[in-house]
Amino acid sequence: MPSTYEYIKKWRKKNPHKAREYWLRWRAQPGYQRKKREEALWRNHRVRWDEAVAMLEAQGGRCALCGVPIALLKERGKRCAHVDHCHETNVVRGLLCVLCNTALGRFGDTVEKVRRVVAYLERADDRQNQNRIPSAK
Ligand SMILES: [Zn+2]
Repeated sequence: MPSTYEYIKKWRKKNPHKAREYWLRWRAQPGYQRKKREEALWRNHRVRWDEAVAMLEAQGGRCALCGVPIALLKERGKRCAHVDHCHETNVVRGLLCVLCNTALGRFGDTVEKVRRVVAYLERADDRQNQNRIPSAK
């Protein structure tokens, strides 16, 4: 006799449109998004919902790096809040927008590498200023 899980799996395969409809209805239940986010915050970062809310309030509802408005749940006009953390110690540093969080990761998450980025941009600025033709004014 197949297990309940196997039965459901087969039923979904036979009825993909109905399965999708059920899933969309399930997902639209009040509180579903919040519950999933709460679970993910705890599972991935050991951060409780109230702690995340307090952290976001302390940051004025904005990305700790660039300052755009961010939110813990989907909200029109706001980017999703991502938990920035140290990958060695798992210590949470703050909440960032997706662009800042991925940028930090790409720059290696270290002060040393970010300083090299700043130095590079400063050198480029200097070169640009040296080559600038004075305006006619
Ligand atoms: Zn940002």
